[in-house]
Amino acid sequence: MDAWRTLYGEQSETVDLEQIEPILDKLEQRLEGNYPFHHPSYAGQMLKPPHPVAWLAYALTATINPNNHALDGGPPTSEMEKEAVKELAKMVGYGDTYLGHLTSGGTIANLEALFVAREIHPEQAIAATANSHYTHRRMCHVLNTKFLEIPVDINDTPDFEFIENHADEIGTIVVTMGTTGLGTTEPLSKILDIARKHSIRIHVDAAYGGFFSLIKNALPKTEEWQLLSEADSIVIDPHKHGLQPYGCGSILYKDPSVGKYYKHDSPYTYFTSEDLHLGEISLECSRAGAAAAAFWATLQMLPLTESGLGSVLKKARKATLQFADILKNSNSFQLYQEPDLDIVGYFRIPEKATTSEINKLSLSTFEKGMNREDPSESYHLSLFKIPADRFTARFPNYQADTETVQILRSVFMKEEHQLFVDELAERIGI
Ligand SMILES: *Cc1c(COP(=O)(O)O)cnc(C)c1O
Repeated sequence: MDAWRTLYGEQSETVDLEQIEPILDKLEQRLEGNYPFHHPSYAGQMLKPPHPVAWLAYALTATINPNNHALDGGPPTSEMEKEAVKELAKMVGYGDTYLGHLTSGGTIANLEALFVAREIHPEQAIAATANSHYTHRRMCHVLNTKFLEIPVDINDTPDFEFIENHADEIGTIVVTMGTTGLGTTEPLSKILDIARKHSIRIHVDAAYGGFFSLIKNALPKTEEWQLLSEADSIVIDPHKHGLQPYGCGSILYKDPSVGKYYKHDSPYTYFTSEDLHLGEISLECSRAGAAAAAFWATLQMLPLTESGLGSVLKKARKATLQFADILKNSNSFQLYQEPDLDIVGYFRIPEKATTSEINKLSLSTFEKGMNREDPSESYHLSLFKIPADRFTARFPNYQADTETVQILRSVFMKEEHQLFVDELAERIGI
């Protein structure tokens, strides 16, 4: 509350702390309904609390509530956004002539990229693999653009022949560097080769995986990450692996001239200067200046280098490999595939080799962890659905008696996971 007093002086007297306190008490109780996202026993979905410097910077800035749509709405936070985006552009290997901005999330950032893609190739389809994020298909519907699904084989490799055969129809290919399901790095190199031959645009969706480029030399598909700067546009979510509170995505374009597709004037805004207002190059209007301040503050502490934010990802990766090793040495569990980043897919081996038995065991393992009375025994995983024929192609000794197979899925994105992997495996019963 001191920050409040400093900012608002006498006015703070009108804030009745006695009224606020019981409300916050109630809120605290309501929030207890969450799962322990902060704790390493939570190895489920792709989420964790932000870095303290991020939420402190966010909270402090939110007391002023600047709006990064126009320079009139938040001059300092607009500057911070430009500085932070410059660091992102440097991280992916873009030169000084990129265009980019923060967004409220990855979906809207991808929508912007696909919107620009459609403006450039208005008559052609946007293609992405079956493993791409579900929102690409949805956004193509919003944009009234044809979406083409690229099939993948049992190793998640896209069907290159399919791409070649449909090359005339395709204007843009979305390549996912870090799929949301199992964290697969798609083969940018091969897709780039085909795309260049046919003047196809490449959009890289690295909403989840983008920050892994900081530790590309320690990843299995280093050469794919080295090509990131070849993409025409890239989406990276600081609210996924950038330690930010929700409300922070980003879009980067290699060619700044695509700004012309956003061109518009506004009778309400853009009055203060000739400088670029962020709203002139984004589809969204109001955006939290606090999100830019939080990301900027985080980068002061953990710059986008291998030893900065990269050190956090290295620990996540180490925990992932440790967990995968435990699974490989287990008689009761099976690793589904080698993890490219920090997501592990696995399942409990049933006595009877059918997909329905796997489904039963996955569900009971998943539920058991959340229903333990004693928090020192609980754990939190997520489930991942795979078409049964794809599963049995990989594990032919299983009989498919269901349409889909549910396996267990864990995202090891917290630094703390590294010290907890053995304990977690024990709690799960691996
Ligand atoms: C999370 C994710 C998205 C969607 O981003 P939001 O920030 O949740 O809107 C898109 N693509 C990929 C690969 C993702 O992991």
